[in-house]
This record gives sequence, C-alpha cells and structure tokens, in this order.
Amino acid sequence: MITKCSGMQHILNGFLRYRAKLRGELIEKFKIATVNLNPQAILITCVDSRIVASRITQANPGEILITRNPGSLVPNYNVLPPNTSRPEEAALELACLHDNIDTVAIAGHADCKAMNLVHDNRHQIFKSPTTEKESVLKSWLMANSVPTIHKYFEYEKGDFKKPAKFSITNGRTFEAYIDPENAYPNNDKFSMINTLIQLENLKHYSFLKEPLEKKEIHPYALWLDIYNGDILVFCFKEKRFVKLNDESYQKLVSDLNMD
Ligand SMILES: [Zn+2]
Repeated sequence: MITKCSGMQHILNGFLRYRAKLRGELIEKFKIATVNLNPQAILITCVDSRIVASRITQANPGEILITRNPGSLVPNYNVLPPNTSRPEEAALELACLHDNIDTVAIAGHADCKAMNLVHDNRHQIFKSPTTEKESVLKSWLMANSVPTIHKYFEYEKGDFKKPAKFSITNGRTFEAYIDPENAYPNNDKFSMINTLIQLENLKHYSFLKEPLEKKEIHPYALWLDIYNGDILVFCFKEKRFVKLNDESYQKLVSDLNMD
C-alpha cells in the first residue's frame, strides 16, 4: 500500500478529480474555443505554486493566455547576453501578433520567493562581479532586476512617502506610490515595484514598441495579496495599487478605459 503521496501521484489525483467533476463541463467549452478562439488577454505571472492563475481569474478555455516565470518578469533582453533564450518575448508575440490580444496584465504577488531573493541580495549590484558560480535562478533574477533595485532605493530614500516615475514609452509615463500606508513588509513593496518595472520592459520588444506608443496595447499591473486573498489592481489615476472589491470595481474599470 502506498502511504506517501508522491508529487506525480498528487498530479494524477488531481486529474482524477478533474475527470469526475470538471471534464464534462470543459469539453463543451473546449469545443466552443476551438471553433471560435478569441482570447482577450495575456497574463504574465510567477511560477509560485500559490498563484493558481486560472482559478483566480476564473478563466474559461480560450479566454486568457498565461505565461509564468520566477518573479513575473518581462526580461529586457537588450541587457542580457545575446544568446539568452526569450520565452516571454515569444509568448507575447504569440498573444499580441498572432492572437491580436491588446491587453497585457502583469501579476506580481506577496511573499514572492524570487523577489525575496533579489531583495535580500539587492546591495550586491554595487559590488564587483564575483568569480564564484551562482545558481541559475539567482543570476537570472539579479540580471533582470537592476532597474527594480534602483527604483526600490529611490522609494526607500523618500521613506515610501514619495511617488516615483515609470515609463511605458517615452511619451507614456505614470507616477506611482508604493504602499505609503506601510501596510506591507519591505520585500512585498519590492515585489510591487518589480511588477511596475515589468510594464516599462514591454517596450524593449520591437513588435510592442509602436503599438504601445499608439496605445493599441494596454498594459496593466496586478498584485496578489496571498495573505488574505485580495487582488490589488494598479490604478493609474490614483497612482497606487487599489484593492479590487465591489466598491472599487467601477473606479478601476473607468481607469482601464482612460487610454
Ligand atoms: Zn513569485
């Protein structure tokens, strides 16, 4: 008798529950999505096992593309070695060029282990490069996080009471306060900043630059508070992340339509 549930057994158990409870409903939705595939958005989020993206968004088959990596990053390949593979850029090309998606949502989250690692090592960017071999995860995260670290220091200098400026394109900028109420620990503030920095990185992908300038692509930032299940949406008008609920919904929707 198996007493320990292995990782793969856990997956198989999930598939069995899916077959019993969800398969019948999804078959019909798969059929509709196959005939009339018209996804509405791409979500870029973290690999973290707590971010159950399809469940949180309540997405049906065919509605949302999801791409994930540690830290919800949109890497700026201009500053990375030329041979670096570019899966996030490929996913965005699939979404925006092939599927004609105009909505890109980047979702960071609380207690992000990837961002915690960068936050813990943030002072390393001022040290000379070491010959010591670092883990792939750490070196990839650090290589992609220099703008986030600098922006974090800018906020820290103002004790998180002052806004900082972000640039989606040269002509499309916005200001943001990061948790001026000091409701979240510093590593979570860091993760919120990182999420906004990824909005800046989209313009480094050649096929997105012009649509972003013409406001044909709409980038948004979300932040998942996994401590209490809240979804925070970055509100450009209010210059801060706002908790989504029945009261804030209309305000947040009108902010989405400002472009
Ligand atoms: Zn994460």
